Parts: sequence; C-alpha cells; structure tokens
Amino acid sequence: MKNNTRLKLFPALLALALGVTPAGRAADWLVDPSSFHATVTTNAAANEIALENGLVRRVFKLSPAAATVGLDNLMTGESVLRSVRPEAQVTLAGKKFDVGGLTGQPVQNYLSPEWLAQMKANPAAFQFTGMSLGPTVERFPWKPRTEWISLPVAWPPAGIALTLNFAAPAGLEGVTAEVHYELYDGIPVMAKWVVLHNRSGRTLTLDAFKSEILAVDETAPKVDRGAPREWRVMGTTNLPPKNYTEAPREYIDRFTQLFVVTDYAMGGDMEAMKDNPGVRWVHDPLYRTGIQYYGQFKPCLLECTPSVGPGLALTNGADWQSFRAFELLHDSTEQERRGLAERKMWRVLAPWTQENPIYMHGRTAKPADVKLAVDQCAAAGFEMNILTFGSGFNVENTNTGYVAELKELADYAAARHVALGGYDLLASRGVPEAAQAISQLTGQPAGEKDGARFGASPCLATDWGAEHFRRIRNLYATAGLTVLENDGSYPGDFCAATNHSGHLGYADSQWRQWEDIRDLYRWCRGNGIYLTVPDWHFLNGSSKTAMGYVENNWSLPRAEQEIIERQNIYDGTWEKTPSMGWMFVPLTQYHGGGAAATIEPLKEHLPHYETRLADLFGAGVMASYRGPRLFDTPETEAVVKRWVDFYKAHRAILDSDIIHLRRPDGRDWDGLLHVNPALPECGLAVIYNPLEEPIQRQIKLPLYYTGLTDRAVVRWEDGRTEAVALARDYSVMLTVKVPARGRVWFAVGK
Ligand SMILES: [Zn+2]
Repeated sequence: MKNNTRLKLFPALLALALGVTPAGRAADWLVDPSSFHATVTTNAAANEIALENGLVRRVFKLSPAAATVGLDNLMTGESVLRSVRPEAQVTLAGKKFDVGGLTGQPVQNYLSPEWLAQMKANPAAFQFTGMSLGPTVERFPWKPRTEWISLPVAWPPAGIALTLNFAAPAGLEGVTAEVHYELYDGIPVMAKWVVLHNRSGRTLTLDAFKSEILAVDETAPKVDRGAPREWRVMGTTNLPPKNYTEAPREYIDRFTQLFVVTDYAMGGDMEAMKDNPGVRWVHDPLYRTGIQYYGQFKPCLLECTPSVGPGLALTNGADWQSFRAFELLHDSTEQERRGLAERKMWRVLAPWTQENPIYMHGRTAKPADVKLAVDQCAAAGFEMNILTFGSGFNVENTNTGYVAELKELADYAAARHVALGGYDLLASRGVPEAAQAISQLTGQPAGEKDGARFGASPCLATDWGAEHFRRIRNLYATAGLTVLENDGSYPGDFCAATNHSGHLGYADSQWRQWEDIRDLYRWCRGNGIYLTVPDWHFLNGSSKTAMGYVENNWSLPRAEQEIIERQNIYDGTWEKTPSMGWMFVPLTQYHGGGAAATIEPLKEHLPHYETRLADLFGAGVMASYRGPRLFDTPETEAVVKRWVDFYKAHRAILDSDIIHLRRPDGRDWDGLLHVNPALPECGLAVIYNPLEEPIQRQIKLPLYYTGLTDRAVVRWEDGRTEAVALARDYSVMLTVKVPARGRVWFAVGK
C-alpha cells in the first residue's frame, strides 16, 4: 500500500457512500459532484479491498485468489454483480488462461456473500502476487487550447488507481500480468485494462484476450442468438462463439445499468456504442439457471475483447497493454438523465472535446483566398479555418515550396488568432495496390461486400500507411498547422495480407492499424493540434464528429434546412455535448440544389443566414460554414458578428449540457435549455418559431439541472428580468412570445 492516507474502514465511509451533504440533503452527482471522492477501503477480516467514491463501489477479494466480488451501485442501492469471474483472460501460445477469479459459486443468479468463504482459487490461473495504489495517470499528453475552452477541465481526471499483480501458472514461468483500475472523483465511472510482461525467454503469441468479464444482473430483455455483422463478412474460418447475439448494442444498452466503451473505437457510425467493437453483451454459458429458451437469452455477461485477435507475437522482454474499458453505472432509466451521465463521462475522460472553436471550411487553399478567409474570420470573431476537401490542401505534398507556403499562411492566421489546417482522406480512397486492405474471403483488395466498410481502402499497417502518417506529422510540425480533419479515419477494416510491413496477417491487422491511428491522434493532441474525425475516436484525441446529418440535406431548399438543422442538433445532443458534434452550412452550393439551397449571395438571404447562425450558436454547436467568405457586405458582417458575440458573451453556458424541451417539427415552437449548476448564469434557453406568424406560448421549463431549488430570475434578451418561483418538480411556467420565423432567448440565474 503506497497511499495510506486514503485508507479507511468501511463504516467510516457510510456518510460518503450515501452521498449526504453537510446540510443533510442527499447530493445528486449531476448537480453537485464535489462530495464524491474516489478512495480505497480495506476489510482485513474478509481479505477484501474496495474502490469507491460514494456513487459506485467495486469490491475485490484478495485470497485465496484475487477476484471482483462486488459491484455496487451506491446511487440506487443495488448490487450489480451476479457471479464471480476471472479478472481477465488471455490466450497465450494457443492456451487459454484465467487471471485470478474464484470458482465454486452454487448458482449464477445472484451472489451471496456467504458463499465466498467456500469458493476456491483456480490453480490453472494466473495467481495474485500483490497490489499497489496511486494517483490516476494521463493516458497521453494533451496540450490544451484554453482559448477554446469555457468550462473547467482536468487532465488526467482526478481519482485513484489500483493495480493487481499476477504471476503465470506452471508452464508459463516468466510471464506476469497486471490488472489496472482507475476510479474517478465525482462520477460513477471506472477504467480497466490489462498489462502483460513476457520474460519467459521465448516469443509467445497473444492470440486473444478479455480485459473485462462481468457477470451482471439481467436487466436487458431476451435477444436472439446470432453473429454480429463483422463475423459474417469474415467467412468461415472465424466462426463466432455460440454466445453472441445480433441484437444491436444500443438496444441492449437501453436496458442495462452499465454503459461501457473502450478506446478501441472505430467503425464510422459516429455513435459511442456502435463504434466499440471491443464491447459485447453475450450469453453466459455458465448460467444454467437463467432464462434461455427458443434460441433466446438474456445478455447479462459483459466481455471486453476484440472480435478477432489481437494475434500479436510477444517477444521475450515485451510489455503489452490492452485497450482500456470505461464503465459508467447509470442511476436512472430516464433518457435525459442517462444522456447527461454519458455526456459528463466524455467531459471527464476526453476533456479536449470541450475545446469548441468557431470555424469555417475554407473552400480553396490558394494563398490569396486563404488570407481573405482568415481576415474575415478575424473580423467576425471566428477562430479556425479548415481547408476543406476539394480545396487543394494536400498533406502528402512534401514539396518544400508548398510546405513553406503553408507555413507562411499558418503564421499569417496565427497572428490573427485563427487556427489553420486542412483535410486528409484516409478511408475509401485509392492507394497503390500493394497498400490496399486484402479481403479474407477473396484474397483480393477488399470491397464493400467482402470486408472494406467504405469500399476499397488502404491498409494502414503498410509502408504506404507509415509514409502517409510520417508526412502528416512532418507537414504539421514544419508548417505549424493546428487542425487536422481526418476523413474516413480508420473504420476497422481487417486485412488478410501476409506481406504488409506493419502486421503479420489477418489476426493482428485490426489491432496494428488501430495502434497506428491511435498514435497519430495522440501525437496531434500532445502538439496542440485540434482533430475533427467522422468516427467515435474521442478517447484517443478527437474533439468533434458529425452531429448526425445527411449530407444531401444541404441541397434542400433553404427553409427546409432550417428545421432539419434544428432536428439534427436536438437528436445529436442526447449522447454528445454541443461541442462534440459539428454541423454544416453550405454558403456556396454543396452537392446540389442550386440557388434554392445556397446562401450566397449572402446579402440576398440575410434572414435565412441569420436563422442558421441563431440555430447553431443558440445551441452552442459549431458548423462548417463552407465557402470562400463569411460575409459580403457590412450588413452581413454585422449579422455574423452579432451571433458570434452572443456566443462569446454566453460561451460557458452555451457549451454546457442541453435539456431537450420540444423537438422541432415545423408545426409549432421548438427549443433547448442549456444548464450548468456551477455557473452564475446557470440556464439559457432558446425558443424558435418556425411559423409565418408570431406566437405566444406557455412553456414549462425544467430547471432541476440548473441547481436552483426555489426561485429563479429570468433575464430576457431585451433586458427585462422576471423573478419566478419553482414548482415542486423544479420547473417554472413562462409566457414566451416569439416573432414569426424568429427566435427568442433568455438566461436563468439566481
Ligand atoms: Zn494489411
């Protein structure tokens, strides 16, 4: 034990565990997380140790073997763990080994503490040898751009780390394992990962691993057995285990208390659960007394494992680390509250997502055009210019004249407080045949039907991939560019080639490519380079992904785009903070739609342009304003500046979470309420009117998450103030007038 100051006994923590504030009122961690500190407690009589923070508690037995024997939701008072399993599982040189764990539980439906004394260590498993405690450690360096962050962030997140050490059983001498945990302050989230050290004197293949195995309550309904999509496209040599299901994770997750993601994220779905191939809810084959019939079962076994491989050769002396799983315990079945919990998780685990620069998509990379766009950005208060696809920006161009030209432009922009960078296409693109990802089914370059998610794509673990990444690093470092838009990213395509320089074959192809993209993104973050990626790569450094929209919609008539834009924001902010999703504004024609869809000439469509700005800045959501310029006349400039100034004057509350008031339907008002109990301006609502006539409505405003308890002062945009009393459910009723095709906003405070 290194950290004795945090050691306490269980009874001393009762008040903390119950989340009782000094005033005696139970604290809600989503309103005031300050009393929930991660700590470690010991129970010497039971040979147990626990990590807990008043919200969640994970209990470990340390003898006769180390195993998780409790996972308690302290917010609901419920015990989540149903059965004891190994801490992890690794397959080395073809043989499967448990890491720790206890056997002999009579039934798997529930875990009675009385059974633990009779349960046994598994002699064939890695055996517990000791443990250590310490502070949390950053996953990688991050150089924040504080001018784009309006809310407090911490890196690494504060908390406590526990490492359990294990030694391999006979026959595998010289191999040791570590099981790592981190528990964080103020949020019911813990991290888990596994480390292996090979000192056996020989090379061992790591064929497979499960870094987390949790047998938990079956809160999800029955689902059919089946194989996930990834397995079907892989052909017959990698048949799925029988306990898998085709039921989508987002369906299962809706009913589970545990929300689990890993930093092994890929897939291009731009949703946390879909882009997490390392997380599975499966049938529990040991669970004979649970419901399972008609080919259906309740998915109540969580496994964190890659679907194939990783198939790595661990040479003697090698140290290997798994991906990391992050586990959030929910305390509610209500959609908004579950969303708020997940959004808080991203704020804590990936604080770079809270950088929210105002940016445009520069349509051309010609120096004179870039300077014009930068000048307009500076005049209007924009903070970034991304030289978009089709602009001519080319990360692969190593010509010294080109690099010098970009450096001059980056310096020009930086002097005006504008970040500059550009677009790089990585998936669904042509590359030399030797670098293409190979289908396991055909032995030929993979297409959409046989293994390439977005059609023909490069294998990143090739000489081509290494060179591409080297050029990105070199260009960005040399020219001083500070934003990279990495399109397609790495979608997770496997590659069956055996002659690629960066991987051995099929089994390690996804792992090795993931390592490459992860390392690039982490390098960017360490160097202050902002990342927009149409994939869920947040845990490795991405800041933004698409809010969720259909590109062709930007070719619809302007009036339709106004409503659909607000719908996309409304729907995209259940699982993302406003800063995590980008939108799009086609100042010039995008895919099509002609003059009816286009905002240029800007001065001729000023009311529409203003609606777009109000939709977006009112939500705290940035968009790719795509065109050669932001304004064409002083009147247009004034409109752009008005909404930029509005955002900057209220940046902290607009960057805060959204409570969804009424979804836009084009038939009546719609609106959002931003909330943040830590701010004096603890609420800000924007109410939109899509109708051709002015409206007056009675609108119920749920103020619970503003932290206000009995009264609120509403400050209308015209300067009027109104004191209102909160109802029993922390809501207030307001009379709101909104002009035709307009909007009104008001702030809420004490
Ligand atoms: Zn390959």
